[in-house]
Amino acid sequence: MKVAKFSLRLTLFVFLASATFPLAAQNNPAWLTPFPAFRIAGNLYYVGSQDLGSYLIATPRGLILINSSFEASVPLIKKSVESLGFRFSDINILLISHAHDDHCSGSEQIIRLTGAKYYVMAGDVSVVESGGRTDFQYGAQKAHHYPPAHVDRVLHDGSTVSLGGTVLTAHLTPGHTRGTTTWTIDEAENGHVLHVVIVGSPNVNPGYKLVGNKTYPQIAADYHHGFQVLKSLSCDIFLGAHGGYYGMKEKYKRWKQGESGVFIDPAGYKSFIADREQAFEAELKRQEAGMQ
Ligand SMILES: [Zn+2]
Repeated sequence: MKVAKFSLRLTLFVFLASATFPLAAQNNPAWLTPFPAFRIAGNLYYVGSQDLGSYLIATPRGLILINSSFEASVPLIKKSVESLGFRFSDINILLISHAHDDHCSGSEQIIRLTGAKYYVMAGDVSVVESGGRTDFQYGAQKAHHYPPAHVDRVLHDGSTVSLGGTVLTAHLTPGHTRGTTTWTIDEAENGHVLHVVIVGSPNVNPGYKLVGNKTYPQIAADYHHGFQVLKSLSCDIFLGAHGGYYGMKEKYKRWKQGESGVFIDPAGYKSFIADREQAFEAELKRQEAGMQ
């Protein structure tokens, strides 16, 4: 009985702690746990940790990296890039999924080490340039601040990023942050063209005010728009800002065992987006009913 009470208390504590600091790394060890780098398809590689998705696109004119993650992630990403036989200093362009500390804290360091140019969606520019201080939700929380990084090119919905014959498209899927970006890229594999979608984040974080949000008044309309965009994208290979979105670890295991095409998962993409949209709608209804 005593043990049960203690574990209930512990569960409650962990729940409350993670609700208060949803982005703090210490609450999710998988965020800083190394993971082997591997080729997903064509010239696209996974160079992230066990849960924080970082992606490398290798072109004859240099490398593109998506997501710098935490400052402590940078050595892990560097190691992953090098384990694939690429040079970290060849990263020419740095992109992000969205301006939260778990995806962009390492940007200043990576830019300093590689000279990469930083391309960020308009809605997230002031956030990354202020080191998280203008974030509508976490701006006042020191724990979520990180080194500010200068943006070299401001992206808009539909902007393309080209390097060495590879083209990525930035889709504005806002709500989670004002500039949340879902990246698409086409990769050729065994003579087939595969549409890759790297989801920015469709999640409503604990504490997000969807109704009467003074620092982000159009948040609910932005989420609605974001889901319309996500549902309109044609997806063969389903990826995202966190490995957990698309079951990265499980799919990697199957790939290791020799199964081919494990990351081709259009049904998984559709059901993930549908599930996240349902969660958003339920939370919006709950808040509209004044139960917030
Ligand atoms: Zn986030």
